[in-house]
Amino acid sequence: MGTERHPPRAMTRVPSLVLVDLDDTLYDWRWARRAGLAAVTTRWPAFSHRPMAARSREYVRLLNEMHDEVVRGRLDPEDARTRRIARLAMYCGFRLSRREAEEASEVYQIAYAAEERAVPGAGEALSRLRARAAIGVVTNHRVEEQRRKLSVIGLATAIDFLVTSEEVGVAKPHPEIFRRALDRAGVPARAAVMIGDSWEADVLGARAAGIRPIWLHRSRGRPRDPSIAQEIAGWRPVDRLLRAVADPRYARTGRGSPRSGASPSKNRPSLRAPRR
Ligand SMILES: [Mg+2]
Repeated sequence: MGTERHPPRAMTRVPSLVLVDLDDTLYDWRWARRAGLAAVTTRWPAFSHRPMAARSREYVRLLNEMHDEVVRGRLDPEDARTRRIARLAMYCGFRLSRREAEEASEVYQIAYAAEERAVPGAGEALSRLRARAAIGVVTNHRVEEQRRKLSVIGLATAIDFLVTSEEVGVAKPHPEIFRRALDRAGVPARAAVMIGDSWEADVLGARAAGIRPIWLHRSRGRPRDPSIAQEIAGWRPVDRLLRAVADPRYARTGRGSPRSGASPSKNRPSLRAPRR
């Protein structure tokens, strides 16, 4: 007809597998987390001795610190949350009694649960991508909790499979978890991309497994090395995201491959990495 302004040219180059992180990539963890932290701060104003951004960052740091023990079943998730809140109070310069920490943990959880949502645009982007590619979620955490999150935000049926650090036994950025995802889909690394918000876990992890990374960088902050990963500020506009996924510069030249010069296409990862 000649009237189509945006022919779907880029879509023809979409890789056959799109791997996606869950927390703060599909699932708006930051949004719910901040709602939880705001609620405990209303009840215990001393939390505001540190700005929200710093509190939120520290909370994530504490969570990552406890991740291994929770995933291995050595620490009950609710107990872990109570400990995080107690330690966050100390970070903010005051102490909560055990009982107060338990109460604060409950306050946090109620506010958090009320604000769970998908990252804006994630649902539409997945459905557009899935018309051309398989979608696998690669995430650090327990299977049960990550399934729950996908279900709560309405994306459980928008993906083809889920790979978690709990089932693989190692967490991102370990390349083994990405290799497991490639095996699940039955595709080589060169036919996949990985989209995630964490430079270390998602971008560098995927790259180490020979997978082209795309960095979802929603917060303001320093841009990183564009020769390693394309940067997108969000799922919207979806057409821009689709162009990033299909970016022919990376497909043709192998830019973004390890600095050794080995291109992802020549660098099919081995499965010799040690497992914990
Ligand atoms: Mg993440």
